[in-house]
Amino acid sequence: QMFPGKPDVGALLTKEQEKQVGAMAVSVCGTGSLADDVRKGVRERYTSTLASLSFPQVRDLATLLSTSLVNLYDLQPGETVSLFAGNSILYPVAMWAAVRVGARVNGANPAHGVEEMCEALRVAGTRVLFVGLEGLSVALEAVEQVGLGRQRVVVLCEEGEWEGKVQGVRSLGELVELGKTLPEAREWSIPPDLSNKDVCGYLNFSSGTTGKPKAVMLSHHNIIAQCHQLAQQQVVSPGQRYKILAVMPLFHITGLVRFCHYPVFMNGECLMLPKFDFTTMLQTIIKYEIEELILVPPIMIRIVKDSAARPYLPKLREVVKRWSSGSAPISPEIIALLQREFPNAGFRQGYGATESTACISAHPPSHFDYKYATTVGKLMANTTAKVISLTDSGVELGPNETGEICAKGPQIAMGYLDNEVATRETFKNDWFHTGDVGHIDDEGLLHISDRIKEMIKVKGQQVAPAELEDLLLGHEAVEDVAVVGIVDEYAGERPKAVVVLKQGVETGETVGRELLEWVKEKKVRYKWIKEVEFVKEIPKSATGKLLRRVLRDRERSGVGRG
Ligand code: AMP
Repeated sequence: QMFPGKPDVGALLTKEQEKQVGAMAVSVCGTGSLADDVRKGVRERYTSTLASLSFPQVRDLATLLSTSLVNLYDLQPGETVSLFAGNSILYPVAMWAAVRVGARVNGANPAHGVEEMCEALRVAGTRVLFVGLEGLSVALEAVEQVGLGRQRVVVLCEEGEWEGKVQGVRSLGELVELGKTLPEAREWSIPPDLSNKDVCGYLNFSSGTTGKPKAVMLSHHNIIAQCHQLAQQQVVSPGQRYKILAVMPLFHITGLVRFCHYPVFMNGECLMLPKFDFTTMLQTIIKYEIEELILVPPIMIRIVKDSAARPYLPKLREVVKRWSSGSAPISPEIIALLQREFPNAGFRQGYGATESTACISAHPPSHFDYKYATTVGKLMANTTAKVISLTDSGVELGPNETGEICAKGPQIAMGYLDNEVATRETFKNDWFHTGDVGHIDDEGLLHISDRIKEMIKVKGQQVAPAELEDLLLGHEAVEDVAVVGIVDEYAGERPKAVVVLKQGVETGETVGRELLEWVKEKKVRYKWIKEVEFVKEIPKSATGKLLRRVLRDRERSGVGRG
């Protein structure tokens, strides 16, 4: 059976809108009162105080920056600009500079190690790399290794903000200044024979159903449609302007949509915390009266369980009108605690994936209520879902029957970059096969109960078992290995390695610790292995395919523990 979301013209873009790029073009900024307020001429007024940027300022800075990108690097439409940086108000400047001249934007975690960054640069086909100061030294090594050259690295900071400059590396501020001296680069637009469905604007990493991280190609249409879909479920208090705090990273799909495009689309405001700090976050929510919080479950857990949150709870109760959780499952226990602490606030979830430009479903305003909290809401407008049998391949199931969730709609990605096989397997006849298991009830509410894809979710971030298995296989003591997710009270899941040691290597604490260290040295923190188990054999099928399900079931039944 097909489960159609509410048909709504809002998410079906008009022919004219199909020529638009990013949320920039659909935004009311640039013409309304906001624009009049703040449009003071960035060319003269660009100083080193960038505590806040209006959208017109972002646009003007992006124009100057894109001029430099084209002149210095001969950046062409369709080429990739990578942004490996934490949250900063300069992030959207770099992003829209690339989009303005038709390049595609690729975000990744700046905490990556050298190998991870090299892999990301190769997969995305990066031509210019913007990097936050925190990731600069790693980036410099990575660009040497992939042959990009350090002159194509731009540090995401203002001119003069960066002490101890590295020869040949420029700052974003310097490029903006340079842009003022050059003839303005021409703004790129969708070619006449194409619509924005055909043009990839963003590349975000996801491991999808299986294997290592791939670059998901998101069209401009995907992003704009998702903004329309989200807007239909938005509530803003009368007399208030839409305001949001960017707690989650901008390089993740939720951050890209919710904290870059959507605030512009809503003519709203987005506050950025350059570095995540729990108490600073709570103070910011209170100070700036943020009514709706979009968070991942581990932060929700800290709000209701961490003693550091206690002093802030009374004020939070006054300010926060809605809690919104996404990117990973949230436990009924945490929902119950949240309801106890914030009985008058609403609660909702968003469910989706990088491959669906964030949301496939979310709670509509009529369902901002704890009693629906264990569901992931209703399908977004113009989204259709089907549930297919896990045992009887492809057979469509009815309401309340559990199977794999598949979704179709204007937010479903174009596919994986340069990876036809994975694209074919995941996107079949326009249906995105999510790899998530669940059902749709009689009220049209979607329930997610399990995940059949390999992906492990640690604090809402993806860990691809294949990536860790590759690394561990490179260790001299390891004959064979499988990595699976195990439950972690705070992070949701953490990776566990099930290892067969080479003949002659003695099982024991020493080799276990060595393997944990091996991963720590080479991978970003959230990918670190929580535990190692030694086994005689990894379960494989007759054709040699690793049987992850067997391992996972073992974990769940408690056999692998202890
Ligand atoms: P990502 O591409 O990093 O956003 O990861 C997508 C995956 O995260 C989905 O396929 C789900 O497995 C999981 N996920 C996202 N949102 C939720 C949610 N609200 N509840 C349960 N799982 C979720």
